[in-house]
Amino acid sequence: MQRSTWRTWSGTVGCAPAQLVRPTGEDEIVQAVRAAAGSGLTVRAAGTGHSFNRLATTPGVLLDLTSYSGVVAVDRAAGEVTVRAGTPIGVLCRELDRQGLALENIGTLAEQTVAGALSTGNHGTGLAHPPLSGQVTRVRLVTADGVARDVGPGDDPDLWGSVRTALGTLGVLTTVTLRCVPAFNLRLRLHSEPLDALLERFTHWAGQSEHPSLNWLPWTDRVSVRSIDRTDEPATPRAPLRRYASTLDEVRCGITGQAGRVGGAGTVPWLTSRVGGLWPDSPYIDTSHRVFTFPQPVRFLAMEHALPLARTADALRALRPVLRRLGAYSPYSVLVRVSAGDDLPLSLAHGRDTGYVNVTVPRTAGQIEILRAAEHVLREYEARPHWGKAHTATAEVLAPRYPRWKDFQRIRTLLDPAGVFSNEYADKVLGPVPATARDRAPAGAAQ
Ligand SMILES: Cc1cc2nc3c(=O)[nH]c(=O)nc-3n(C[C@H](O)[C@H](O)[C@H](O)COP(=O)(O)OP(=O)(O)OC[C@H]3O[C@@H](n4cnc5c(N)ncnc54)[C@H](O)[C@@H]3O)c2cc1C
Repeated sequence: MQRSTWRTWSGTVGCAPAQLVRPTGEDEIVQAVRAAAGSGLTVRAAGTGHSFNRLATTPGVLLDLTSYSGVVAVDRAAGEVTVRAGTPIGVLCRELDRQGLALENIGTLAEQTVAGALSTGNHGTGLAHPPLSGQVTRVRLVTADGVARDVGPGDDPDLWGSVRTALGTLGVLTTVTLRCVPAFNLRLRLHSEPLDALLERFTHWAGQSEHPSLNWLPWTDRVSVRSIDRTDEPATPRAPLRRYASTLDEVRCGITGQAGRVGGAGTVPWLTSRVGGLWPDSPYIDTSHRVFTFPQPVRFLAMEHALPLARTADALRALRPVLRRLGAYSPYSVLVRVSAGDDLPLSLAHGRDTGYVNVTVPRTAGQIEILRAAEHVLREYEARPHWGKAHTATAEVLAPRYPRWKDFQRIRTLLDPAGVFSNEYADKVLGPVPATARDRAPAGAAQ
């Protein structure tokens, strides 16, 4: 019998699990974990597959959580919302909006699941805001013994810190409770300025807007600066349509990337200059989640590294000649964002205010070289690769970059001594689980 296959959103990674299970209730998750553990199979949970690496793949049992979705409860008095793990962030935000509530800060993607985003250290931008895990007040997860447990701030601090960024290795999250705030509007402003001038005042710039980001086409000397800030003013007319400017920009990247392959790299700047100005870049105001996120239909590959904020400008300066040499006329801009630090053992922002440098390339094979070269440069700046994006770092490289690495490993050994929630990729980036796990005989192999 042919096995079901599962692929990531980017389509570059997939697997043929021994069993593909789509639970619709926590009891089914418990059953699946117990059955797998009993028969010596490993288990991985998956959301919408928006990670770019092999993190969610398995030759054992794949629990696709996308059918386990929806809001469980809103506690207005506590300012909290509890959702099923497979709920897309956009679905949650729309439901909150209907109730006059919102999440404080989110990334750019509405489609990914709450649990998938949390598990890989997902972040938006803003120096007053840590990654998404900072908004989480409780989680419930099914551990390797098949028991569903609630974990919150009153528990062992190592456990509470670890379960909020765990790469799916501590168990299957079933519900996540997040802090929510009264719904609010955001004003988005765009302007362009010379890259060098902005890098000179990078840390100051990072604090000037509540949610700042910049996009830089590496073959140009100017950056496009996005500033997003709270406002009490009402939404501007036709505001919901304005978010599609970013979508159109992504489509433009896809088209110019293809044109560059056919017509030569030199066609990319030509097309960019013509197609780039089709939509207005005047400020607009809309409800928060529609400003934070935008539809992203064009599939690509991305790597993102988290650096100490104070070293981010130097890293971008070092990246410039490398990207110009290799990615001459890349249609995709380098995206730079920031966040507050936190204290989670595997958080990308652990212990420091953080600058995130994201490099995107088309999915064509030769482009991987650009990501490798960028990774090589950023490595010199105490960089931590985004857990959900493309990178080549192994546990040996990563462990010294996370001061609480051992705290996480202690919790992992405690909750999953036999490596039920392991896969080859998790072993590569976190190190192998204790020897007993090595005796497991997974059926088949991830592709
Ligand atoms: C277009 C696009 C835009 C993006 N934008 C951002 C951004 O703005 N900011 C940012 O930080 N990142 C961003 N990312 C990266 C993205 O946030 C992560 O890759 C995230 O993990 C995707 O969530 P998912 O639901 O697709 O999870 P998957 O890719 O399916 O899984 C990721 C990990 O989560 C684990 N997991 C999933 N569900 C569970 C569960 N129920 N219990 C335990 N573990 C689980 C999996 O085992 C795996 O280890 C973006 C990615 C894309 C493709």
